[in-house]
Amino acid sequence: MNIVIIGASFAGVSAAMELRSRDKQATITLLEKQPTLGYMPGSLHLYWEKKIDHLDTIRFITPKKLDQHAIHCQLGATVLALDTAGKKVTYSLLGKEEQIDYDKVIIAAGSRQLSEKIKGSENERVLKYKQYEEAQKAIDIVDRSQHITIIGGGHVGVEAADLLNRQQKQVTLIESMDYILFKYLDSDMTRPVQQKMLAEGIDLRLKQTVSAIDTALEEHLVLHLGEDTLKTEAAVMGVNVRPYLPFLDASIRLNSDQTIAVDQYLRTSVEDVFAAGDCIQLTGPEEDSRYLPLINNAVRSGMTAARNLISPVSPFKGSLKTIGTCVFGYYIASTGMTEADSLFTPRQVNSHRQTVQLNSLPDSDTVTLKWVYDAQTHELLGAQMVSTSNILEKINTLALAIQTRQTLDEIQQTDYFFHPSYSQLTSTTSLMPWNTEESEKNET
Ligand SMILES: Cc1cc2nc3c(=O)[nH]c(=O)nc-3n(C[C@H](O)[C@H](O)[C@H](O)COP(=O)(O)OP(=O)(O)OC[C@H]3O[C@@H](n4cnc5c(N)ncnc54)[C@H](O)[C@@H]3O)c2cc1C
Repeated sequence: MNIVIIGASFAGVSAAMELRSRDKQATITLLEKQPTLGYMPGSLHLYWEKKIDHLDTIRFITPKKLDQHAIHCQLGATVLALDTAGKKVTYSLLGKEEQIDYDKVIIAAGSRQLSEKIKGSENERVLKYKQYEEAQKAIDIVDRSQHITIIGGGHVGVEAADLLNRQQKQVTLIESMDYILFKYLDSDMTRPVQQKMLAEGIDLRLKQTVSAIDTALEEHLVLHLGEDTLKTEAAVMGVNVRPYLPFLDASIRLNSDQTIAVDQYLRTSVEDVFAAGDCIQLTGPEEDSRYLPLINNAVRSGMTAARNLISPVSPFKGSLKTIGTCVFGYYIASTGMTEADSLFTPRQVNSHRQTVQLNSLPDSDTVTLKWVYDAQTHELLGAQMVSTSNILEKINTLALAIQTRQTLDEIQQTDYFFHPSYSQLTSTTSLMPWNTEESEKNET
C-alpha cells in the first residue's frame, strides 16, 4: 500500500505515526513544503517569555524519529496538483517537477495566518509566525519596533499582547467583538483579564474592525478602522487562520469557508482521499460543523483519518474547543459550549458561576468556574475557569465529563482525592452549590 500525506505538521505526522503502528509494510511518504520539520507555532511566545533561548529549542518531531519508523519525509516539496482520477500527486522539489502515485492520500495541508479579507496583510511588517521562518523575521521586526498593534483578541492575540507588553512595547489590541476571547469565554469571565489589560496600559479597542492596511510608509503601517486610521510600526495577525489549498482538483468538494468537506470518517467526496487538521471543519460543542483550528484537533483527526484508511471503523468524535493559557497573570481554561454559544442551539441552557477555594489552607487561592448545562437533563455542556493559580489541567476532567455526556449529579459522584494542602473537601470539578465563596446564578 502506497500512502501519501500532504503536509508534515501535527495532522500529517500523527496520521503517519498512527498508520505505521497499524501497518508495518505500507510505504508512507510525507510531502512538506517547509525546509524544516516539527516547529511549534507557539514557540515565538515561549521565546518572548524567555522560557526558551532559541526558536529551535522545541521540535515536536524530527526527521530522525520519522526515519526510525520507516516514514519517508520529503522536505522542501511543494505539492502543485492532486490528480484524483490518475491517483497522482505532482510536487516541485529543488525547482524540478516530480510525481508520486498513491493508493490512499491524506490532505493535511493545514492553514496560514494571511487574511484574504484584510488588504495589505501580506506586508512583512504584519507579523505572521505560525512557521519557523516567519517567526525568525518577526523577532527582528519586533526588536526594531516600539508600537505594535495586535489584530484580533483571540488566545494568540491576547497572549501576544501580554508578552509584548512585558517587553515594554506600547501595545494596541483591536477586536471586532465587544470582549476578548469570545470564542472560549463569556464576557463576565473575561472581565478581570480585560481590567488587568487596561491597568497594564494596553490600548484595548473593542468593537472595531481592521478593514485594510496601508503599507506605503516606510517603517510604519496605517491600519484602517472604519472612518479612523491608526499608525503603528508593526502589527500581529491574531485573526483566525484559513486553509490554502490551490493544488486541489475540482472533484474534491469544499465547504463555503473553503475547508475540505469530510464525513465522520474524514473521507472527502473522492474515494481514497482523506483530510485532517486545520483544512477541515469539525463537529463542535453545539453539534454543528465548525472551523476549530487547534493542535489537539489536528493530532486527533490525523490519527482518526489513518485508522479509517482501509475501512470506516472509527468515527471522529468532534471537538469541544478545549483550551488553556495564561494571560496577564490569569490562568484561563475553557471547554465546550459557552453561555453565548447556547443562543445558537435549540436546547434550553442554564449557567451557574461560582468561586471556590483551591485547597483547605487559610491562604488558599480561588478559581472562578462557570458551568453551562442543559436546563432539563442537567447534562454538562460547557465549563470555563479563571484563576491566578495554575488550574489548567482541571479542564481536561470537565472535557471528559462533557464527552461522556455526564450530568451534574453524575459529576458529583466522580471519585477524587482529598489532601488539605492540595484540595478542598469537595472536588473543584464537581458543581456543589453550597461549596462557594460567592456565587451568582445566571439563568438563560
Ligand atoms: C501563533 C500561533 C500559535 C498557536 N498556538 C496554539 C496552541 O498553543 N495550541 C493549539 O491548540 N493551537 C495553536 N495554534 C493553532 C495550530 O497552529 C494549528 O491548529 C495547527 O498547526 C494545525 O495543524 P495542521 O497539521 O492541521 O496544519 P499546519 O500546522 O498548518 O501544517 C500544515 C503543513 O502543511 C504544509 N503544506 C501546506 N501546503 C502544502 C503544499 N502545497 N505542499 C506541501 N506541504 C504543504 C505546511 O507547510 C505545514 O507544514 C496556534 C496558531 C498560531 C498561528
